[in-house]
Amino acid sequence: MRIMRVVSSLEELTAERGSWKADGGSVGFVPTMGYLHAGHLSLVRRARAENDTVVVSIFVNPTQFGPQEDLSRYPRNLPGDLALLEAAGADVVFTPTVETVYPAGFATYVEPTGLLTERLEAASRPGHFRGVATVVLKLFNMVRPTRAYFGQKDAQQVAVIRRMVADLNTPVTLRIMPTIREADGLAMSSRNSYLGAEDRAAATVLYRALQAGISAFTEQPAGGSAAVRAAMAGVIATEPRATLDYADVCHPDTFAPLETLDDLHAPALLAIAARVGPARLIDNVVLREDGGWNLGERVE
Ligand code: AMP
Repeated sequence: MRIMRVVSSLEELTAERGSWKADGGSVGFVPTMGYLHAGHLSLVRRARAENDTVVVSIFVNPTQFGPQEDLSRYPRNLPGDLALLEAAGADVVFTPTVETVYPAGFATYVEPTGLLTERLEAASRPGHFRGVATVVLKLFNMVRPTRAYFGQKDAQQVAVIRRMVADLNTPVTLRIMPTIREADGLAMSSRNSYLGAEDRAAATVLYRALQAGISAFTEQPAGGSAAVRAAMAGVIATEPRATLDYADVCHPDTFAPLETLDDLHAPALLAIAARVGPARLIDNVVLREDGGWNLGERVE
């Protein structure tokens, strides 16, 4: 019978790695901040299907939170997470402490540069992607996975990590999985737990705004992508509990804004961020060159 191991020190992780690498098998890795939901578990299941060993990390990474953000109240439930991971087929759960990841004297960061670190999430959350890139590269170096699994829900994070892996020749294959949604369309997120009943109902406005954006986009409006942005923003404006941060149309890899109708023949990312009550929520959809799109899967 398979027994899931939970390790928190680098020594234990190295010992585990020795046993799985000795077998010469593939290692699938899913980095998370815990408080797991069906979105995380879809990544774990895919890793299980594609690899000999599945490693999941649970680490609420302080360097990716701004000083005014929700680090101290970020939700945690390790016993619940471990039960879900056992059922999803994880082999090893890595739960390092902050001191293990950032020991005294830590002084080296991965600094993503360019448009990706100037627009949208990067503009709203200064320093966020520096923290993400740093912790993800560190975790890759600790776990040394064959494949690593990330969710399309965090589209700009995906673009930053793709860029980093290409730029730094990191020996890992990235696998990007569709967004898993609640039955009413709300993208699953650990932060949804901040929502009271009325805010939770209002939060579907992001999904509805994306649908309006897709309709506007496929109609190729005379106003180009500005009209698509306006269509999304207009839906958010109908919900008094929601405050728009951004509604954007950009290239899914470079995050360069798409302005003209010609640009609309390229792959396009519709990306939205809005505050709903106490939570800042994000959502997105990629419109492919062939005109198709994938809003992900709803869990009934
Ligand atoms: P987090 O714990 O929020 O850092 O997320 C860990 C991983 O799960 C990231 O790669 C996320 O993009 C992914 N993820 C989070 N929510 C979802 C979702 N609703 N569907 C698919 N993947 C998700």
